[in-house]
Amino acid sequence: DKPASRNFIQQIIDADIAAGKHQAADIHTRFPPEPNGYLHIGHAKSICLNAGLAREYGGKFNLRFDDTNPVKEEQEYVDAIMDDVRWLGGDWEDRLRHASDYFDTLYDWAVALIKAGKAFVCDLNAEQMREHRGTLTEPGKESPYRSRTVEENLDLFAQMKAGKFKDGEKTLRAKIDMASSNINLRDPVMYRIKHAHHQRTGDKWCIYPSYDYTHGQSDALEGITHSICTLEFENHRPLYDWCLDQLNELGLLPEGRPRQIEFARLNLTYTVMSKRKLLQLVTEKHVSGWDDPRMPTIRGLRRRGYTSQAIRAFCERIGVAKFNSTIDMLWLEDALREHLNEVALRRMAVLRPLKVVLVDEGGKPLTGDIKTCSIANHPQDPAQGEREVTLGPVLYIEQEDFMEDAPKKFFRLKPGGPVRLRGAAIIVCQEVVKDAAGEVTELRCTFNPDTSAKIDDKKVKGTIHWVDAATAVDAPVRVYDHLFGVENPDKAEEGKTFLDNLNPNSLETLTAKCEPALAEAAAGDTFQFERVGYFFADPIDSKPGQPVFNRTVTLRDTWGK
Ligand code: ATP
Ligand code: MG
Ligand code: MG
Repeated sequence: DKPASRNFIQQIIDADIAAGKHQAADIHTRFPPEPNGYLHIGHAKSICLNAGLAREYGGKFNLRFDDTNPVKEEQEYVDAIMDDVRWLGGDWEDRLRHASDYFDTLYDWAVALIKAGKAFVCDLNAEQMREHRGTLTEPGKESPYRSRTVEENLDLFAQMKAGKFKDGEKTLRAKIDMASSNINLRDPVMYRIKHAHHQRTGDKWCIYPSYDYTHGQSDALEGITHSICTLEFENHRPLYDWCLDQLNELGLLPEGRPRQIEFARLNLTYTVMSKRKLLQLVTEKHVSGWDDPRMPTIRGLRRRGYTSQAIRAFCERIGVAKFNSTIDMLWLEDALREHLNEVALRRMAVLRPLKVVLVDEGGKPLTGDIKTCSIANHPQDPAQGEREVTLGPVLYIEQEDFMEDAPKKFFRLKPGGPVRLRGAAIIVCQEVVKDAAGEVTELRCTFNPDTSAKIDDKKVKGTIHWVDAATAVDAPVRVYDHLFGVENPDKAEEGKTFLDNLNPNSLETLTAKCEPALAEAAAGDTFQFERVGYFFADPIDSKPGQPVFNRTVTLRDTWGK
Protein backbone atom coordinates (compact mmCIF):
# COMPACT_ATOMS: atom_id res chain seq x y z
CA ASP A 1 0.00 0.00 0.00
CA LYS A 2 0.89 3.69 0.08
CA PRO A 3 2.30 4.16 3.60
CA ALA A 4 2.24 7.96 3.29
CA SER A 5 -1.55 8.06 3.08
CA ARG A 6 -2.18 5.83 6.09
CA ASN A 7 -4.29 7.54 8.70
CA PHE A 8 -3.16 7.57 12.31
CA ILE A 9 -5.32 4.60 13.28
CA GLN A 10 -4.02 2.51 10.40
CA GLN A 11 -0.52 3.50 11.48
CA ILE A 12 -1.18 2.28 15.03
CA ILE A 13 -2.54 -1.02 13.75
CA ASP A 14 0.30 -1.41 11.24
CA ALA A 15 2.78 -0.87 14.08
CA ASP A 16 0.97 -3.40 16.31
CA ILE A 17 1.19 -5.96 13.52
CA ALA A 18 4.83 -5.14 12.80
CA ALA A 19 5.64 -5.55 16.50
CA GLY A 20 4.05 -8.99 16.46
CA LYS A 21 1.28 -7.95 18.83
CA HIS A 22 -1.42 -9.13 16.42
CA GLN A 23 -1.74 -10.97 13.15
CA ALA A 24 -3.60 -8.94 10.50
CA ALA A 25 -6.40 -11.51 10.51
CA ASP A 26 -6.89 -11.00 14.26
CA ILE A 27 -7.63 -7.28 13.93
CA HIS A 28 -11.04 -6.95 15.47
CA THR A 29 -13.19 -3.82 15.67
CA ARG A 30 -16.72 -3.10 16.73
CA PHE A 31 -19.45 -0.51 16.35
CA PRO A 32 -21.17 -0.03 19.73
CA PRO A 33 -24.42 1.95 19.38
CA GLU A 34 -26.72 2.55 22.27
CA PRO A 35 -30.23 1.68 21.03
CA ASN A 36 -31.67 4.96 22.27
CA GLY A 37 -32.20 6.68 18.93
CA TYR A 38 -31.61 6.47 15.22
CA LEU A 39 -28.18 6.53 13.64
CA HIS A 40 -26.95 9.71 11.98
CA ILE A 41 -24.20 10.60 9.54
CA GLY A 42 -21.72 10.83 12.43
CA HIS A 43 -22.39 7.21 13.30
CA ALA A 44 -21.89 6.36 9.63
CA LYS A 45 -18.35 7.63 9.94
CA SER A 46 -17.72 5.30 12.88
CA ILE A 47 -19.31 2.36 11.05
CA CYS A 48 -17.32 2.96 7.86
CA LEU A 49 -14.14 3.34 9.88
CA ASN A 50 -14.57 0.24 12.03
CA ALA A 51 -16.00 -2.04 9.36
CA GLY A 52 -13.51 -0.66 6.84
CA LEU A 53 -10.51 -1.51 9.04
CA ALA A 54 -11.74 -5.05 9.58
CA ARG A 55 -12.23 -5.45 5.84
CA GLU A 56 -8.85 -3.96 5.03
CA TYR A 57 -6.87 -6.23 7.37
CA GLY A 58 -9.00 -9.30 6.76
CA GLY A 59 -10.07 -9.15 10.39
CA LYS A 60 -13.46 -9.07 12.10
CA PHE A 61 -16.15 -6.53 12.87
CA ASN A 62 -18.81 -6.81 15.59
CA LEU A 63 -22.05 -4.94 15.93
CA ARG A 64 -22.55 -4.54 19.65
CA PHE A 65 -25.56 -2.94 21.23
CA ASP A 66 -24.48 -1.00 24.27
CA ASP A 67 -27.78 -1.77 25.98
CA THR A 68 -27.03 -0.90 29.59
CA ASN A 69 -29.71 1.72 30.10
CA PRO A 70 -33.12 0.06 29.70
CA VAL A 71 -35.00 3.25 30.51
CA LYS A 72 -34.04 4.93 27.22
CA GLU A 73 -33.71 1.94 24.93
CA GLU A 74 -36.22 0.34 22.60
CA GLN A 75 -36.52 -2.53 20.14
CA GLU A 76 -37.66 -0.10 17.44
CA TYR A 77 -34.21 1.51 17.58
CA VAL A 78 -32.45 -1.85 17.60
CA ASP A 79 -34.20 -2.90 14.39
CA ALA A 80 -33.57 0.41 12.64
CA ILE A 81 -29.90 0.44 13.65
CA MET A 82 -29.32 -3.08 12.30
CA ASP A 83 -31.00 -2.14 9.03
CA ASP A 84 -28.98 1.05 8.68
CA VAL A 85 -25.63 -0.56 9.53
CA ARG A 86 -26.27 -3.27 6.96
CA TRP A 87 -27.33 -0.70 4.38
CA LEU A 88 -24.08 1.18 4.96
CA GLY A 89 -22.14 -1.98 4.23
CA GLY A 90 -21.20 -2.81 7.81
CA ASP A 91 -21.23 -6.61 7.75
CA TRP A 92 -21.08 -8.16 11.19
CA GLU A 93 -21.84 -11.63 9.77
CA ASP A 94 -22.68 -13.76 12.81
CA ARG A 95 -21.14 -11.34 15.28
CA LEU A 96 -24.13 -9.50 16.65
CA ARG A 97 -23.43 -8.84 20.31
CA HIS A 98 -25.07 -7.09 23.24
CA ALA A 99 -23.49 -5.66 26.35
CA SER A 100 -26.37 -7.34 28.14
CA ASP A 101 -24.88 -10.70 27.05
CA TYR A 102 -22.22 -9.97 29.65
CA PHE A 103 -24.36 -8.92 32.61
CA ASP A 104 -23.63 -12.16 34.52
CA THR A 105 -19.90 -11.95 33.89
CA LEU A 106 -19.77 -8.25 34.70
CA TYR A 107 -21.57 -8.96 37.96
CA ASP A 108 -19.16 -11.76 38.88
CA TRP A 109 -16.23 -9.52 38.07
CA ALA A 110 -17.68 -6.73 40.20
CA VAL A 111 -17.87 -9.19 43.10
CA ALA A 112 -14.22 -10.11 42.47
CA LEU A 113 -13.28 -6.42 42.53
CA ILE A 114 -15.14 -5.98 45.84
CA LYS A 115 -13.25 -8.95 47.25
CA ALA A 116 -9.98 -7.42 46.10
CA GLY A 117 -10.89 -4.20 47.90
CA LYS A 118 -11.29 -2.32 44.62
CA ALA A 119 -15.00 -1.49 44.82
CA PHE A 120 -17.47 -0.44 47.48
CA VAL A 121 -21.17 0.16 47.95
CA CYS A 122 -21.94 3.84 48.45
CA ASP A 123 -25.06 5.44 49.93
CA LEU A 124 -24.47 8.96 48.64
CA ASN A 125 -27.23 10.18 46.37
CA ALA A 126 -26.52 11.78 43.00
CA GLU A 127 -26.36 15.29 44.38
CA GLN A 128 -24.10 14.38 47.29
CA MET A 129 -21.87 12.50 44.93
CA ARG A 130 -21.55 15.58 42.74
CA GLU A 131 -20.57 17.63 45.79
CA HIS A 132 -17.92 15.07 46.74
CA ARG A 133 -16.53 14.83 43.25
CA GLY A 134 -14.60 18.11 43.36
CA THR A 135 -13.63 20.11 40.29
CA LEU A 136 -10.83 20.31 37.78
CA THR A 137 -8.82 22.43 40.20
CA GLU A 138 -10.01 20.95 43.50
CA PRO A 139 -9.59 17.34 44.61
CA GLY A 140 -12.71 15.41 45.56
CA LYS A 141 -13.71 14.22 49.04
CA GLU A 142 -13.85 10.55 49.90
CA SER A 143 -17.26 9.05 50.47
CA PRO A 144 -17.95 8.19 54.13
CA TYR A 145 -18.92 4.70 52.90
CA ARG A 146 -15.57 4.09 51.25
CA SER A 147 -14.19 2.24 54.29
CA ARG A 148 -16.91 -0.41 54.40
CA THR A 149 -15.51 -3.90 54.91
CA VAL A 150 -15.40 -6.41 52.07
CA GLU A 151 -18.05 -8.52 53.83
CA GLU A 152 -20.38 -5.57 54.21
CA ASN A 153 -19.88 -4.57 50.56
CA LEU A 154 -20.52 -8.12 49.33
CA ASP A 155 -23.67 -8.31 51.40
CA LEU A 156 -24.97 -4.91 50.27
CA PHE A 157 -24.15 -5.55 46.60
CA ALA A 158 -26.04 -8.86 46.77
CA GLN A 159 -28.99 -7.01 48.31
CA MET A 160 -28.81 -4.39 45.54
CA LYS A 161 -29.06 -7.18 43.01
CA ALA A 162 -31.88 -8.83 44.93
CA GLY A 163 -33.96 -5.65 44.69
CA LYS A 164 -33.84 -4.67 48.35
CA PHE A 165 -33.28 -0.99 47.57
CA LYS A 166 -35.03 1.70 45.61
CA ASP A 167 -33.64 3.44 42.51
CA GLY A 168 -30.77 5.72 43.43
CA GLU A 169 -30.49 4.53 47.01
CA LYS A 170 -27.10 2.90 46.55
CA THR A 171 -24.40 2.53 43.91
CA LEU A 172 -21.38 0.34 43.50
CA ARG A 173 -18.29 2.46 42.97
CA ALA A 174 -14.73 1.69 41.99
CA LYS A 175 -12.26 2.57 44.71
CA ILE A 176 -9.58 4.49 42.85
CA ASP A 177 -8.46 7.98 43.85
CA MET A 178 -10.57 10.96 44.88
CA ALA A 179 -7.54 13.20 44.45
CA SER A 180 -6.83 12.15 40.89
CA SER A 181 -6.42 15.02 38.44
CA ASN A 182 -8.71 12.97 36.16
CA ILE A 183 -12.24 13.30 37.49
CA ASN A 184 -13.23 10.02 35.83
CA LEU A 185 -10.92 8.24 38.27
CA ARG A 186 -12.56 9.73 41.36
CA ASP A 187 -14.34 6.57 42.46
CA PRO A 188 -16.59 6.27 39.40
CA VAL A 189 -19.94 4.51 39.56
CA MET A 190 -19.90 0.90 38.32
CA TYR A 191 -23.51 -0.04 39.04
CA ARG A 192 -26.72 1.86 39.61
CA ILE A 193 -30.11 0.64 40.72
CA LYS A 194 -32.85 0.85 38.09
CA HIS A 195 -36.03 -1.08 38.54
CA ALA A 196 -36.68 -1.17 34.82
CA HIS A 197 -37.64 -3.85 32.35
CA HIS A 198 -34.87 -4.59 29.88
CA GLN A 199 -35.79 -5.52 26.30
CA ARG A 200 -33.51 -8.57 26.43
CA THR A 201 -32.98 -9.54 30.04
CA GLY A 202 -36.53 -8.75 31.15
CA ASP A 203 -36.82 -8.31 34.90
CA LYS A 204 -33.78 -10.36 35.79
CA TRP A 205 -31.79 -7.30 36.78
CA CYS A 206 -32.56 -4.20 38.75
CA ILE A 207 -28.93 -3.07 38.80
CA TYR A 208 -27.26 -2.02 35.57
CA PRO A 209 -23.54 -1.49 34.87
CA SER A 210 -22.26 1.93 33.81
CA TYR A 211 -20.77 2.62 30.39
CA ASP A 212 -17.27 2.86 31.86
CA TYR A 213 -17.50 -0.43 33.68
CA THR A 214 -19.10 -2.17 30.69
CA HIS A 215 -17.29 -1.04 27.61
CA GLY A 216 -13.71 -2.21 28.05
CA GLN A 217 -14.79 -5.51 29.57
CA SER A 218 -17.15 -6.15 26.64
CA ASP A 219 -14.27 -5.36 24.28
CA ALA A 220 -12.02 -7.82 26.14
CA LEU A 221 -14.68 -10.55 26.13
CA GLU A 222 -15.21 -10.19 22.39
CA GLY A 223 -11.52 -10.16 21.57
CA ILE A 224 -11.67 -6.62 20.21
CA THR A 225 -8.12 -5.48 19.47
CA HIS A 226 -8.76 -1.82 18.68
CA SER A 227 -11.65 -0.11 20.39
CA ILE A 228 -12.19 3.05 18.40
CA CYS A 229 -14.31 5.80 19.88
CA THR A 230 -14.75 9.54 19.71
CA LEU A 231 -12.55 12.11 21.43
CA GLU A 232 -14.85 12.79 24.37
CA PHE A 233 -13.76 9.39 25.70
CA GLU A 234 -10.10 10.32 25.80
CA ASN A 235 -10.43 11.24 29.49
CA HIS A 236 -12.11 7.90 30.10
CA ARG A 237 -9.19 5.90 28.74
CA PRO A 238 -7.33 5.77 32.11
CA LEU A 239 -10.49 4.28 33.61
CA TYR A 240 -10.89 1.88 30.70
CA ASP A 241 -7.32 0.74 31.37
CA TRP A 242 -7.76 0.70 35.16
CA CYS A 243 -10.65 -1.74 34.96
CA LEU A 244 -8.76 -4.02 32.58
CA ASP A 245 -5.63 -3.83 34.78
CA GLN A 246 -7.49 -4.85 37.93
CA LEU A 247 -9.29 -7.74 36.27
CA ASN A 248 -6.07 -8.80 34.59
CA GLU A 249 -4.29 -8.91 37.95
CA LEU A 250 -7.08 -11.10 39.24
CA GLY A 251 -6.46 -13.40 36.29
CA LEU A 252 -10.01 -12.97 35.02
CA LEU A 253 -9.51 -11.54 31.53
CA PRO A 254 -9.15 -13.56 28.37
CA GLU A 255 -5.83 -13.11 26.63
CA GLY A 256 -5.18 -10.22 24.25
CA ARG A 257 -6.04 -6.86 25.58
CA PRO A 258 -8.10 -4.25 23.74
CA ARG A 259 -6.72 -0.80 23.16
CA GLN A 260 -8.87 2.30 23.09
CA ILE A 261 -8.13 4.80 20.32
CA GLU A 262 -9.96 8.12 20.00
CA PHE A 263 -10.69 10.05 16.82
CA ALA A 264 -12.51 13.31 16.10
CA ARG A 265 -16.27 13.01 15.79
CA LEU A 266 -17.88 14.20 12.60
CA ASN A 267 -19.63 17.55 12.69
CA LEU A 268 -21.33 18.95 9.61
CA THR A 269 -22.39 22.46 8.70
CA TYR A 270 -26.11 23.34 8.54
CA THR A 271 -27.18 20.53 10.82
CA VAL A 272 -27.22 19.29 14.40
CA MET A 273 -26.07 15.84 15.40
CA SER A 274 -26.95 15.43 19.04
CA LYS A 275 -29.55 12.72 19.63
CA ARG A 276 -31.34 14.96 22.11
CA LYS A 277 -31.74 17.74 19.56
CA LEU A 278 -32.75 15.36 16.79
CA LEU A 279 -35.38 13.90 19.11
CA GLN A 280 -36.65 17.38 19.88
CA LEU A 281 -37.01 18.14 16.16
CA VAL A 282 -39.16 15.04 15.84
CA THR A 283 -41.29 15.35 18.98
CA GLU A 284 -41.96 19.05 18.40
CA LYS A 285 -42.82 18.28 14.77
CA HIS A 286 -40.31 20.59 13.14
CA VAL A 287 -39.77 17.64 10.79
CA SER A 288 -42.11 14.84 9.74
CA GLY A 289 -40.17 12.15 11.61
CA TRP A 290 -36.77 10.53 12.08
CA ASP A 291 -36.79 9.76 8.38
CA ASP A 292 -37.65 13.26 7.22
CA PRO A 293 -35.39 13.79 4.20
CA ARG A 294 -33.94 16.92 5.83
CA MET A 295 -32.69 15.01 8.86
CA PRO A 296 -29.00 14.00 9.13
CA THR A 297 -30.16 10.55 10.24
CA ILE A 298 -29.31 7.60 8.04
CA ARG A 299 -33.07 7.06 7.74
CA GLY A 300 -33.50 10.64 6.54
CA LEU A 301 -30.57 10.51 4.14
CA ARG A 302 -31.89 7.26 2.68
CA ARG A 303 -35.30 8.77 2.14
CA ARG A 304 -33.71 11.82 0.58
CA GLY A 305 -32.09 9.56 -1.99
CA TYR A 306 -28.56 9.25 -0.64
CA THR A 307 -26.75 6.10 -1.67
CA SER A 308 -24.58 4.12 0.70
CA GLN A 309 -21.75 4.32 -1.85
CA ALA A 310 -21.86 8.11 -1.61
CA ILE A 311 -21.79 8.09 2.18
CA ARG A 312 -18.91 5.64 2.24
CA ALA A 313 -16.98 7.72 -0.30
CA PHE A 314 -17.59 10.80 1.83
CA CYS A 315 -16.35 9.10 4.99
CA GLU A 316 -13.29 7.86 3.16
CA ARG A 317 -12.57 11.30 1.77
CA ILE A 318 -12.83 13.23 5.04
CA GLY A 319 -10.49 10.77 6.72
CA VAL A 320 -9.88 10.46 10.45
CA ALA A 321 -8.35 13.18 12.56
CA LYS A 322 -7.36 13.70 16.17
CA PHE A 323 -8.85 17.17 16.39
CA ASN A 324 -12.48 18.13 16.21
CA SER A 325 -13.59 20.20 13.26
CA THR A 326 -16.69 20.83 11.23
CA ILE A 327 -16.93 19.48 7.72
CA ASP A 328 -18.71 21.49 5.05
CA MET A 329 -21.96 19.86 3.96
CA LEU A 330 -20.76 20.45 0.37
CA TRP A 331 -18.40 17.49 0.75
CA LEU A 332 -21.26 15.16 1.46
CA GLU A 333 -23.33 16.57 -1.39
CA ASP A 334 -20.41 16.36 -3.80
CA ALA A 335 -19.82 12.70 -3.00
CA LEU A 336 -23.50 12.12 -3.70
CA ARG A 337 -23.47 14.01 -7.00
CA GLU A 338 -20.48 12.05 -8.16
CA HIS A 339 -22.20 8.75 -7.55
CA LEU A 340 -25.61 9.78 -8.88
CA ASN A 341 -24.04 11.27 -11.99
CA GLU A 342 -22.77 7.77 -12.76
CA VAL A 343 -25.90 5.81 -12.01
CA ALA A 344 -28.97 8.02 -12.37
CA LEU A 345 -30.98 7.81 -15.58
CA ARG A 346 -31.75 11.16 -17.21
CA ARG A 347 -35.30 12.37 -17.54
CA MET A 348 -36.99 15.67 -18.26
CA ALA A 349 -39.30 17.39 -15.81
CA VAL A 350 -40.30 21.01 -15.45
CA LEU A 351 -40.71 22.22 -11.87
CA ARG A 352 -42.20 25.66 -12.58
CA PRO A 353 -43.97 25.34 -15.93
CA LEU A 354 -44.37 28.02 -18.56
CA LYS A 355 -46.55 27.07 -21.52
CA VAL A 356 -45.10 27.24 -25.01
CA VAL A 357 -47.35 27.00 -28.06
CA LEU A 358 -45.67 26.12 -31.34
CA VAL A 359 -46.90 28.19 -34.28
CA ASP A 360 -46.23 28.41 -38.01
CA GLU A 361 -44.61 31.37 -39.73
CA GLY A 362 -48.02 33.05 -39.87
CA GLY A 363 -48.56 32.66 -36.12
CA LYS A 364 -51.10 29.85 -36.43
CA PRO A 365 -50.84 27.11 -33.76
CA LEU A 366 -49.53 23.80 -35.07
CA THR A 367 -51.58 20.65 -34.58
CA GLY A 368 -50.85 16.93 -34.22
CA ASP A 369 -47.61 15.34 -33.10
CA ILE A 370 -44.71 17.35 -34.32
CA LYS A 371 -41.86 14.98 -33.81
CA THR A 372 -40.74 11.88 -31.98
CA CYS A 373 -37.29 12.17 -30.50
CA SER A 374 -34.93 9.49 -29.26
CA ILE A 375 -33.12 10.74 -26.21
CA ALA A 376 -30.23 9.00 -24.42
CA ASN A 377 -31.05 7.69 -20.94
CA HIS A 378 -27.48 8.39 -19.90
CA PRO A 379 -25.23 10.41 -22.20
CA GLN A 380 -22.02 8.86 -20.77
CA ASP A 381 -23.39 5.33 -20.69
CA PRO A 382 -24.82 4.21 -24.03
CA ALA A 383 -25.66 0.82 -22.48
CA GLN A 384 -28.58 2.54 -20.75
CA GLY A 385 -30.20 2.99 -24.14
CA GLU A 386 -32.56 5.63 -25.38
CA ARG A 387 -36.21 6.43 -24.95
CA GLU A 388 -38.73 7.95 -27.30
CA VAL A 389 -40.19 11.29 -26.32
CA THR A 390 -43.00 12.89 -28.30
CA LEU A 391 -43.04 16.58 -29.00
CA GLY A 392 -46.53 17.94 -29.53
CA PRO A 393 -47.69 21.44 -30.44
CA VAL A 394 -47.84 22.57 -26.81
CA LEU A 395 -45.07 22.09 -24.31
CA TYR A 396 -43.76 23.35 -21.00
CA ILE A 397 -40.44 24.92 -20.25
CA GLU A 398 -39.06 26.18 -16.96
CA GLN A 399 -40.23 29.73 -16.11
CA GLU A 400 -36.66 30.74 -15.38
CA ASP A 401 -35.57 29.65 -18.84
CA PHE A 402 -37.39 32.61 -20.33
CA MET A 403 -36.53 36.24 -19.77
CA GLU A 404 -38.29 39.13 -21.42
CA ASP A 405 -35.68 41.82 -20.89
CA ALA A 406 -32.72 39.55 -21.16
CA PRO A 407 -29.12 40.69 -20.91
CA LYS A 408 -26.84 39.88 -23.82
CA LYS A 409 -25.30 36.88 -22.08
CA PHE A 410 -28.67 35.22 -21.46
CA PHE A 411 -28.59 32.23 -23.79
CA ARG A 412 -31.93 30.73 -22.95
CA LEU A 413 -35.22 31.83 -24.44
CA LYS A 414 -35.91 35.52 -25.03
CA PRO A 415 -38.21 37.44 -27.41
CA GLY A 416 -37.01 36.97 -30.96
CA GLY A 417 -34.30 34.59 -29.83
CA PRO A 418 -33.67 30.93 -30.55
CA VAL A 419 -33.02 28.16 -28.08
CA ARG A 420 -32.40 24.47 -28.48
CA LEU A 421 -34.91 22.09 -26.98
CA ARG A 422 -32.93 19.22 -25.51
CA GLY A 423 -32.91 16.30 -27.91
CA ALA A 424 -35.56 17.83 -30.17
CA ALA A 425 -35.06 21.00 -32.18
CA ILE A 426 -34.56 24.72 -32.15
CA ILE A 427 -37.43 27.09 -31.45
CA VAL A 428 -37.62 30.86 -31.77
CA CYS A 429 -39.78 33.01 -29.51
CA GLN A 430 -42.14 35.09 -31.66
CA GLU A 431 -44.72 36.35 -29.18
CA VAL A 432 -45.10 36.81 -25.44
CA VAL A 433 -48.63 36.42 -24.10
CA LYS A 434 -49.49 38.07 -20.76
CA ASP A 435 -52.47 38.15 -18.46
CA ALA A 436 -54.20 41.31 -17.18
CA ALA A 437 -51.64 41.60 -14.37
CA GLY A 438 -48.79 41.58 -16.84
CA GLU A 439 -47.60 38.07 -15.92
CA VAL A 440 -46.24 35.99 -18.77
CA THR A 441 -48.68 33.11 -19.31
CA GLU A 442 -47.62 31.71 -22.64
CA LEU A 443 -44.98 31.97 -25.32
CA ARG A 444 -45.58 31.46 -29.02
CA CYS A 445 -42.61 30.01 -30.79
CA THR A 446 -41.85 28.89 -34.31
CA PHE A 447 -40.32 25.53 -34.83
CA ASN A 448 -38.19 24.46 -37.74
CA PRO A 449 -38.72 20.75 -38.35
CA ASP A 450 -35.55 20.57 -40.40
CA THR A 451 -33.42 21.85 -37.56
CA SER A 452 -32.26 18.84 -35.64
CA ALA A 453 -30.56 19.16 -32.27
CA LYS A 454 -27.77 17.07 -33.69
CA ILE A 455 -26.82 19.82 -36.11
CA ASP A 456 -24.07 21.84 -34.56
CA ASP A 457 -25.58 25.26 -34.94
CA LYS A 458 -23.06 27.45 -33.15
CA LYS A 459 -25.34 30.43 -33.10
CA VAL A 460 -27.75 28.70 -30.71
CA LYS A 461 -25.87 28.62 -27.47
CA GLY A 462 -28.58 27.64 -25.06
CA THR A 463 -30.20 24.27 -24.56
CA ILE A 464 -33.20 23.90 -22.29
CA HIS A 465 -35.29 20.98 -21.13
CA TRP A 466 -38.97 20.68 -21.94
CA VAL A 467 -41.99 18.46 -21.45
CA ASP A 468 -44.72 17.77 -23.97
CA ALA A 469 -48.02 19.09 -22.60
CA ALA A 470 -50.34 16.45 -24.05
CA THR A 471 -48.46 13.52 -22.54
CA ALA A 472 -47.08 15.23 -19.43
CA VAL A 473 -47.63 13.60 -16.07
CA ASP A 474 -48.12 15.70 -12.96
CA ALA A 475 -46.06 14.65 -9.94
CA PRO A 476 -45.60 16.24 -6.53
CA VAL A 477 -42.00 17.27 -6.03
CA ARG A 478 -40.53 18.18 -2.68
CA VAL A 479 -37.69 20.61 -2.99
CA TYR A 480 -35.51 20.39 0.09
CA ASP A 481 -32.97 22.83 1.34
CA HIS A 482 -30.80 22.79 4.49
CA LEU A 483 -32.87 22.26 7.60
CA PHE A 484 -31.02 25.11 9.29
CA GLY A 485 -30.34 28.51 7.84
CA VAL A 486 -26.94 29.00 9.46
CA GLU A 487 -23.69 27.07 9.24
CA ASN A 488 -23.51 26.31 12.93
CA PRO A 489 -27.06 25.89 14.28
CA ASP A 490 -25.78 24.78 17.69
CA LYS A 491 -24.53 28.30 18.25
CA ALA A 492 -27.62 30.29 19.15
CA GLU A 493 -27.80 33.93 20.16
CA GLU A 494 -28.48 34.74 23.78
CA GLY A 495 -32.00 33.83 24.81
CA LYS A 496 -32.46 31.72 21.69
CA THR A 497 -32.03 28.04 20.95
CA PHE A 498 -30.92 25.98 17.98
CA LEU A 499 -34.59 25.90 16.93
CA ASP A 500 -34.42 29.61 16.17
CA ASN A 501 -31.87 28.72 13.51
CA LEU A 502 -34.27 26.51 11.56
CA ASN A 503 -34.56 27.45 7.88
CA PRO A 504 -38.22 28.41 7.27
CA ASN A 505 -37.78 27.56 3.58
CA SER A 506 -36.30 24.12 3.94
CA LEU A 507 -39.24 22.49 2.16
CA GLU A 508 -41.17 23.66 -0.87
CA THR A 509 -43.72 21.40 -2.55
CA LEU A 510 -44.38 21.85 -6.25
CA THR A 511 -46.31 19.99 -8.90
CA ALA A 512 -43.93 19.19 -11.70
CA LYS A 513 -44.74 18.43 -15.31
CA CYS A 514 -42.91 15.21 -16.05
CA GLU A 515 -42.21 13.30 -19.24
CA PRO A 516 -44.35 10.14 -19.42
CA ALA A 517 -41.46 7.76 -18.66
CA LEU A 518 -41.39 9.16 -15.12
CA ALA A 519 -44.86 7.82 -14.39
CA GLU A 520 -43.27 4.37 -14.40
CA ALA A 521 -40.79 5.35 -11.69
CA ALA A 522 -40.77 2.77 -8.94
CA ALA A 523 -40.51 3.79 -5.31
CA GLY A 524 -36.80 4.19 -4.57
CA ASP A 525 -35.72 5.02 -8.14
CA THR A 526 -33.31 7.89 -8.69
CA PHE A 527 -33.23 10.16 -11.71
CA GLN A 528 -31.41 13.16 -12.91
CA PHE A 529 -34.01 15.67 -14.01
CA GLU A 530 -31.92 17.26 -16.68
CA ARG A 531 -30.57 20.66 -15.72
CA VAL A 532 -32.55 20.60 -12.46
CA GLY A 533 -31.00 18.08 -10.08
CA TYR A 534 -31.24 14.55 -8.76
CA PHE A 535 -34.64 13.28 -7.64
CA PHE A 536 -35.67 10.20 -5.72
CA ALA A 537 -39.10 8.54 -5.93
CA ASP A 538 -40.17 8.63 -2.30
CA PRO A 539 -40.30 5.04 -1.04
CA ILE A 540 -43.33 5.67 1.18
CA ASP A 541 -45.52 8.17 -0.62
CA SER A 542 -45.05 6.96 -4.20
CA LYS A 543 -47.81 4.76 -5.58
CA PRO A 544 -47.68 2.68 -8.79
CA GLY A 545 -48.07 5.16 -11.66
CA GLN A 546 -48.04 8.10 -9.24
CA PRO A 547 -44.54 8.85 -8.05
CA VAL A 548 -43.74 11.53 -5.49
CA PHE A 549 -40.25 12.94 -5.90
CA ASN A 550 -37.80 14.22 -3.32
CA ARG A 551 -35.05 16.48 -4.53
CA THR A 552 -31.93 14.70 -3.39
CA VAL A 553 -29.40 17.32 -4.42
CA THR A 554 -29.00 20.02 -7.02
CA LEU A 555 -26.61 19.72 -9.94
CA ARG A 556 -23.19 21.11 -9.34
CA ASP A 557 -23.51 23.87 -11.85
CA THR A 558 -26.22 25.40 -13.99
CA TRP A 559 -25.59 23.38 -17.08
CA GLY A 560 -26.75 24.97 -20.31
CA LYS A 561 -27.24 28.43 -18.90
P1 ATP B 1 -25.22 9.36 23.18
O1 ATP B 1 -24.02 8.65 23.74
O2 ATP B 1 -25.31 10.78 23.54
O3 ATP B 1 -26.47 8.61 23.31
P2 ATP B 1 -23.89 8.96 20.65
O4 ATP B 1 -24.11 9.75 19.42
O5 ATP B 1 -22.56 8.94 21.26
O6 ATP B 1 -24.99 9.46 21.63
P3 ATP B 1 -23.79 6.07 20.59
O7 ATP B 1 -24.87 5.14 20.24
O8 ATP B 1 -23.20 5.99 21.94
O9 ATP B 1 -24.38 7.50 20.34
O10 ATP B 1 -22.66 6.02 19.49
C1 ATP B 1 -22.18 4.82 18.94
C2 ATP B 1 -20.80 5.03 18.37
O11 ATP B 1 -20.82 6.05 17.37
C3 ATP B 1 -19.82 5.49 19.43
O12 ATP B 1 -18.62 4.77 19.25
C4 ATP B 1 -19.63 6.94 19.14
O13 ATP B 1 -18.36 7.37 19.54
C5 ATP B 1 -19.82 7.00 17.63
N1 ATP B 1 -20.27 8.33 17.21
C6 ATP B 1 -21.33 9.00 17.70
N2 ATP B 1 -21.44 10.22 17.12
C7 ATP B 1 -20.40 10.32 16.26
C8 ATP B 1 -19.95 11.35 15.35
N3 ATP B 1 -20.58 12.51 15.24
N4 ATP B 1 -18.85 11.10 14.61
C9 ATP B 1 -18.22 9.92 14.70
N5 ATP B 1 -18.58 8.92 15.52
C10 ATP B 1 -19.66 9.11 16.29
MG1 MG C 1 -24.00 6.50 24.15
MG1 MG D 1 -22.03 7.97 22.93
